[in-house]
Amino acid sequence: MLVVTLNKDKYKYDIHSLFKAFYPEQDVKMILKDEESSLCSDEGMPSAAIDMEETEGYIEMQLTSSDGTVKTERAVCAEESTGKETVNPDYATNGSMASLLTPKNALKQLIYGMLSQETGTQLPWGTLTGIRPVKIPMMMLEQGHQPADIHDYMQKVFFTSQEKTDLSIDIAQREHRLLQGIDYRNGYSIYIGIPFCPTTCLYCSFTSYPIGAWTKEVDDYVSCLEKEIDYVAEAFKDRQLDTIYVGGGTPTTLSPQQLDRLLGKIESALNLEHLRELTVESGRPDSITPDKLRVMKQHHVSRISVNPQTMHDKTLKFIGRRHTVQQTIDAFHMAREAGFDNINMDIILGLPGETEEDVRSTMAEIEKLRPDDLTVHSLAIKRASRLQEWIRENGIDTINNTDAMMHIAHEGAERMGLKPYYLYRQKNMSGNFENTGYAQEGKAGVYNVLIMEEKESIVALGAGSVSKAVFDGGRIERCDNVKDVKLYMEKIDEMIDRKRRLFTVR
Ligand code: SF4
Repeated sequence: MLVVTLNKDKYKYDIHSLFKAFYPEQDVKMILKDEESSLCSDEGMPSAAIDMEETEGYIEMQLTSSDGTVKTERAVCAEESTGKETVNPDYATNGSMASLLTPKNALKQLIYGMLSQETGTQLPWGTLTGIRPVKIPMMMLEQGHQPADIHDYMQKVFFTSQEKTDLSIDIAQREHRLLQGIDYRNGYSIYIGIPFCPTTCLYCSFTSYPIGAWTKEVDDYVSCLEKEIDYVAEAFKDRQLDTIYVGGGTPTTLSPQQLDRLLGKIESALNLEHLRELTVESGRPDSITPDKLRVMKQHHVSRISVNPQTMHDKTLKFIGRRHTVQQTIDAFHMAREAGFDNINMDIILGLPGETEEDVRSTMAEIEKLRPDDLTVHSLAIKRASRLQEWIRENGIDTINNTDAMMHIAHEGAERMGLKPYYLYRQKNMSGNFENTGYAQEGKAGVYNVLIMEEKESIVALGAGSVSKAVFDGGRIERCDNVKDVKLYMEKIDEMIDRKRRLFTVR
């Protein structure tokens, strides 16, 4: 355990995230100076005390090192700002650093500098701990800043490495082009969640139930989705539908007849005149059949996923996916033969027991298939996953993706002519890296970018899904559907009412 004492209850989330980025295996506890607490850092761990006096223009941090040495450093900052914290575009034009750093950024720089010295570590994303680092270059591009200014800003304000700065600007430029022509104010997208899977993967933290135990309920579940689609058709009749993403779970655990019902309902109830993309995340190769592919093709599904995660049978067995590498290869060829010309594949780096050599051979197998999209995930150890339990039970310290693994995947994507087009990070991500989507020119998943950039409202249907309303001025509000499938079906009218309330006011 590592203890951080604060003089006020502010920026707690940011401070916690940055300490966790330097000490991913430690439990970081935050306590207030005035609080009675007997907590102290474990032996061999540093402790910190932070005093924020933004109205007086400074922030101070005292770090007691693991060897007992005490250091105090102070950062100057602008007075408390009321606007958005992340970007101060004035910097890019006049370059005056100290007077323009917001208190939050000054605080994060101070923590970063001291922890970096203490641990001898540099973080690739610097002080950026949020899940959408590309939002910053994207915002600056939209404000008319040049890439060179954005580069300078990211490196000086967030200490982002050269490589990650280049990557995020490159992606922001691609996203910018991809989203041109989308009318955010009058447009919207739909997410439909199918919360069933053949089995539960070791690392899963999504809403997912084993299909075998739920077969009898699936028809009723599809009926509830139909009811939600009817609500959307009425409530959004004056708006333009840009993308639909059917995810989960594994949508192809539905039978061909159930898929036909769902996709047929989408076609009959919604105005698809402006639709740019209809994705069905087929996901688990053992759930894909020629019949299901035929149904999806008949209903104009434009993009699907066949997700291997790894091309090693030993790992697949270990992570509980119960399909083989050969099934992935067969499902991919089956999808090509059915006429799908936009197939995504997902892989995960940092899976238990996998080495750099394993990643190299996974990439070699994927390169033989030549998918149109490749999403490279870093393993995220979620609290709710069986993987977390497994780590505890087996006393494993770290399961780490490495920089070298990321490079192997990146180079493989480049050899296939795929370019990075979206990126996000998750909490507790292995190795403090990121998830990156790569695609051939013209094959990028527009929904993936829309959800990352949070520019357009997304109406989410199905158990455990979260709708997001983006209002004028960029304000975002969310509402969720309950995760429990039975409860979702019982309370379907309430789920619709929640959305009605969310989307009524603009
Ligand atoms: S396929 Fe995805 S949603 Fe299904 S169990 Fe595995 S990780 Fe969870």
